[in-house]
Amino acid sequence: MSTSDLDKSIQYIKGVGPKRAQSLGRLGIHTVKDLLYYFPRTYQDRSQVEKISNLTDGTTAMVKGIVINIKSFRTRGWKSIFEASVGDGTSMLQVKWFNRPYQSEIFQVDDHVFLYGKVTLYKQSLQMVNPEVEIAPGEDSPGRSVGILPVYSLIEEMKQTSFRKLVKTIVDDHYHKVEEIFTDDIISKHKFIPVTDAIKNIHFPDSMDSLDESKRRLKYEEFFLFETAMALRKRGIKEVSGYKFRIGQNVENHICKLFPFELTKSQQKVISEIHEDMCSERPMNRLLQGDVGSGKTAVAVYALLAAVANRFQTAFMAPTEILAEQHYRTLSLLLEKAEVKILLLTGGAKTKIKKENIERIKEGDIDLVIGTHALIDKGVEFKKLGLIVIDEQHKFGVMQRTRLRQKGYNKHMPDVLVMTATPIPRSLSLTVFGDLDISTIDELPPGRTPVETYRVPVKKENDAYGFIRKEVEKGRQAFVVYPLVDESEKLDLKSATVEAEKLRDEVFSGLNVGLLHGQLKPELKDLIMSDFVNHKYDILVSTIVIEVGIDVPNATVMAIEHAERFGLAQLHQLRGRIGRSSHRSYCLLFGIQKSAESRQRIKTMLETNDGFRIAEEDLKLRGPGEFFGTRQHGLPEFKIGDIINDYNIIKLARTDAFDLVKEGRNSKDPKKQILLKIIMERFKDKLDLINTG
Ligand code: ADP
Ligand code: MG
Repeated sequence: MSTSDLDKSIQYIKGVGPKRAQSLGRLGIHTVKDLLYYFPRTYQDRSQVEKISNLTDGTTAMVKGIVINIKSFRTRGWKSIFEASVGDGTSMLQVKWFNRPYQSEIFQVDDHVFLYGKVTLYKQSLQMVNPEVEIAPGEDSPGRSVGILPVYSLIEEMKQTSFRKLVKTIVDDHYHKVEEIFTDDIISKHKFIPVTDAIKNIHFPDSMDSLDESKRRLKYEEFFLFETAMALRKRGIKEVSGYKFRIGQNVENHICKLFPFELTKSQQKVISEIHEDMCSERPMNRLLQGDVGSGKTAVAVYALLAAVANRFQTAFMAPTEILAEQHYRTLSLLLEKAEVKILLLTGGAKTKIKKENIERIKEGDIDLVIGTHALIDKGVEFKKLGLIVIDEQHKFGVMQRTRLRQKGYNKHMPDVLVMTATPIPRSLSLTVFGDLDISTIDELPPGRTPVETYRVPVKKENDAYGFIRKEVEKGRQAFVVYPLVDESEKLDLKSATVEAEKLRDEVFSGLNVGLLHGQLKPELKDLIMSDFVNHKYDILVSTIVIEVGIDVPNATVMAIEHAERFGLAQLHQLRGRIGRSSHRSYCLLFGIQKSAESRQRIKTMLETNDGFRIAEEDLKLRGPGEFFGTRQHGLPEFKIGDIINDYNIIKLARTDAFDLVKEGRNSKDPKKQILLKIIMERFKDKLDLINTG
């Protein structure tokens, strides 16, 4: 085995040396292997040598010809110009280099040359300006620069040509040493080319077909390794012992009687999945996804109360104070008659009451703690934490999930249910959330009329405000949302405070207008919110703080100012605040769509109410990094795999990886055991990282 050879420091390769090694280090290339796995960003197809007579203006092409004449001169401004005419028997091409005096001797009359560059029309003849040139040793030479050439992402001080040359040397000398990690059955099942060919061809492909085959193989490999790590993590959690709750028919009936409605079929289905998890001796590690308004809270309540009935403490974590407070209000009301001790814990000052509350949690005097990330503070300890629900998972990171879980009781791991109202696009559910079991609520409670969405052009703004007033006169309420709080933040944006005053005093004079934004004191926010819930305000002018979770069924209008400033997921979340009763509801999108992307977002909003479709579209528009809008999402970085477009490959790799881990130690096939061992060793650091998650 030649592993050591590939692990050799790049510095000791001929022609590299310490200085170049340092530059390469900045690209993350330290060893020979790193360089072999530093894949091209894109390719230039120069495999076709064109006849000069076939060239057309504006195309980029490769030609071969003989130098007919050359001319080197300076303009009056002392700019140097080198000109040549090159012919290939079909026609002539003019070639020019500006300001490159060292070029003047680069080729001579009668040299055979390959030229690659953009063809332009100048004074009725075709020319190339500053093309790349290769002088061929003779007329029949195939040309080094002919073919499909790799283009790499490089830092400024590096040149494509010299980098390419280095890669070429290293690939030629070392590609055959790359070891095959897959068993024959995987290779033959997917008809993969050998890894050595894949490495060679990914840098210097013989043809577009062989490039595609190499990509397919290397993408699969990358996803396979990642999914194996996911499978190991998932198995790791399943190997820990969790609590085995007992949830009898009695408890179940008791919980369901609390709700003022019948659970939908979908809610019942996910509840039975959760029920099964809770009653097993393995910890639950489940993601509950469902569109806004699909009734995830009721499902959470089921899980929480079932755990409380088993005399465990439970925690319900929400991403914002407003949301935590709302959950607290809803649940307090729901549990009025149940004997559940419930408490709200949010950030802010360590008052005497808060200290007392923390003490009560520690002593086990509280059954259900609802809170923000204040719940994961060091000072907060539970006596017997059995189940955790995390609302709007995408707002939290993997680390926060883990830290809360670590507050569990003794050697057992508490059950964890995370909920998200941003439906997870298929590919992400296999990657970012690949270690979770997933339950999906795929229907809305009955009696909802789908929200009608309209774009409001500037000249229709007054009509739209008039429409809102009419809704208020009918007894309904409205949200008006702005992107920013304070005028000073951005110059030409209407700001919530100024606009709120204008709306209150002029546009909606006579109506009650409340104002809510992120910079208000928590107590005040809570007060304004509950005043709105209690219909003390007709209209709530707000910033994005109301994005997630807020539930005010009587509100039927969501007017979004500067809609172009919001992401698609945000717009959908905002729209999800309305349409929560049997009244017809309206989402009004104000603003001017400047960019193509913002137009596409608005178009999608007008076209569909389906959160799953919107999430897919959002992911496509913004890419996976931006999709979450937070750096803590634990998004894996792939070198060649593309989370969005390679869904089918991810799926294959995942199935194989999970099979391997499942068979694992018991496999009769020694090769599989070796494969698993290799992966565990090779990715030890990565797996450790994953284990913290
Ligand atoms: P989300 O999934 O967005 O968190 P919520 O749990 O806030 O949704 O529920 C949205 C609204 O639907 C709430 O007013 C809730 O009381 C109501 N709801 C939930 N489940 C049902 C149901 N099965 N039938 C009728 N209304 C329901
Ligand atoms: Mg919710």
